[in-house]
Amino acid sequence: MATVKLEIVSPDKIVYSEDINMAIVRSTGGELGILPKHAPLLTGLVPHAMHIKKDDNEELIAIAGGFMEVNPAKITILASAAELPINIDVNRAKKAYDRAKERLDAFKKAPDAHQDIDSFRARAALERAIARLKATKTMD
Ligand code: ATP
Repeated sequence: MATVKLEIVSPDKIVYSEDINMAIVRSTGGELGILPKHAPLLTGLVPHAMHIKKDDNEELIAIAGGFMEVNPAKITILASAAELPINIDVNRAKKAYDRAKERLDAFKKAPDAHQDIDSFRARAALERAIARLKATKTMD
């Protein structure tokens, strides 16, 4: 099976570096499936649990957001944060989810009474938490 090198880099480390068969990511323009020899591409990534197909196995990695550069022989993801499922603290992600959900619900119910709440920030935090819960299969 044809392969392409996938490198996922966070600000402090290389999170993943393997030869893979396919990556499925959520870009700012929608979902993208990247196969070996893909045409060059540069796009933004939104928070999500990305799928990787490698030797008949499927792996999940939480991506908090960032950029992806694709060349025929290499996919590079520069992520603001990225975690393998084994490194995700599910309890922490659940707490982050509850906190963000509470803020968003309070804001939606009475925006004028909650001008202190940054709803964009809360929505982004919620999406990062969902990405971590999905990557660990603790949320569908
Ligand atoms: P929290 O509110 O729990 O800090 P967050 O979404 O604000 O979550 P980020 O700003 O995306 O966190 O990430 C900050 C750092 O913490 C990164 O290094 C990221 O990999 C790590 N991180 C965040 N949440 C988790 C988690 N649930 N398990 C493991 N590492 C995490």
